[in-house]
Amino acid sequence: MGQINKKNDILKKINDLAISQFDEIEYESASIKLDNPVDEVTAKDIPRKKTSLCSSKMGRKEKISIEDIFSNGTEDENTGMDPENNSCLLKNPQEKKSSSDISFPVKETEISGTPEKTKQEKIINSDYLNKSDTQKIALIYNTDHEAHSSVCLGMESPERPQRLTDAYWYLKKNRIFEDDKFELFTRFEMARERDILRVHTSSYVDFIRSYASKGGGFLGDSTYITPQSYEIALMAAGGAIKAAELVIDENYLCSFALIRPPGHHAGSDKYSGFCMFNNAAVLARYLQQVKGLKKILILDWDAHAGNGTMDIFYSDPTVMTVSIHRDPADYYPRTGFIDQTGEGAGKGFTANIEMPQGSGDEEYIMAFKEVIIPLINRFSPDFVICCCGFDGYYQEKNNKLKLTAEGYYQIGKILRDSLSVDFTLLLEGGYHRFNGQLCHSILSSLLGRKNPINESDIFSQYELGIQKKIYQKAQKNIADVKELFSIK
Ligand SMILES: [Zn+2]
Repeated sequence: MGQINKKNDILKKINDLAISQFDEIEYESASIKLDNPVDEVTAKDIPRKKTSLCSSKMGRKEKISIEDIFSNGTEDENTGMDPENNSCLLKNPQEKKSSSDISFPVKETEISGTPEKTKQEKIINSDYLNKSDTQKIALIYNTDHEAHSSVCLGMESPERPQRLTDAYWYLKKNRIFEDDKFELFTRFEMARERDILRVHTSSYVDFIRSYASKGGGFLGDSTYITPQSYEIALMAAGGAIKAAELVIDENYLCSFALIRPPGHHAGSDKYSGFCMFNNAAVLARYLQQVKGLKKILILDWDAHAGNGTMDIFYSDPTVMTVSIHRDPADYYPRTGFIDQTGEGAGKGFTANIEMPQGSGDEEYIMAFKEVIIPLINRFSPDFVICCCGFDGYYQEKNNKLKLTAEGYYQIGKILRDSLSVDFTLLLEGGYHRFNGQLCHSILSSLLGRKNPINESDIFSQYELGIQKKIYQKAQKNIADVKELFSIK
């Protein structure tokens, strides 16, 4: 009898959540000023699939019902390289490594059958200055992620399907997918287990698979697993791989993978902060070991430090990680400090840029121009993976950063103007309702178009008054990083 009541409570919860999300969409879409009324997404535009939230779309399992979830139970089981002088990027490095000392993993045989194009050929054949005039941006998205929902477990989590479905419907409503400069890819393969095992330990992968197969539950550290989360996490990593392959093999300008769950907090043997498998790390190893690229740079501008990614490559000089995030002294994940610069052969190939609370567009633009782009240029990677978090947006109330749509637009512009290497963007955080709008802003700047999102009079006079002090604090942090990495 208690079991039946519990089931009814869950069903009611799903219903209530769906209704409250409708309200939120209408409230929030009214609070952003848009150029064109067609930009606004209203509740009626968002198809809701209350009864299919937990059903499988992976084609591998039978439909999962609320009854199945209860019968399976939810036990709480815890279980720079400088090309000029061949020296490390870091000032006064404890260990110096010459480029000849760096060994790269052995290239595997490509089994997908896609003909490979070497990096050298790509550079010869591409004129990056005119690239955006002729090339499209590839967008990666499918609906499989919807079954990774905490609602299936009777819980609420900010990391929910609506993060992506709202973004998709916003972009669709704005006819992005009919625009000849964009191409949407909804069919892509899950990452193979061997792709995941290049980054994560086999015992950890076994644990995630087995925990999901037993019905899943809340793991801790904000991370949950539904019965289908294992396959969905593989699909997210597969989306990242697809995004990069389109740029490398099919000559797209760049690509944006709208994927979840996010990945940048996941370490080689640990889940963390909504993340199970580290999508960017899996992609980096794939590019090295399958596509034959040597040096990969992972640039992370999520509000939170990309600590999982940092840990995975901390002693690896072939993958440089650059993370710009809110000062982690009193903020999740409480690691990712300026003095964490790598170890051993990887010393000097990890950069953390701490941004003070309240940092916004000006502070981030300064960091990109004065530190991030010089670091990328000096490392001279063969590919850049951008971990694109939208949770530094001012509407993400708990994060106390103040990036606006214009800030993300400017980040895209800096990348467009400065990068002469292939790159892709992978979605990480962003738990408000504006991922679609911010995506639209950054994609527009990558194409050299004007910003479609017009926000004005966002901040109060008081907020604008204290911004000078925040700017000065950010300036000091940026100067510290420049000194540490000998950037003039
Ligand atoms: Zn985040």
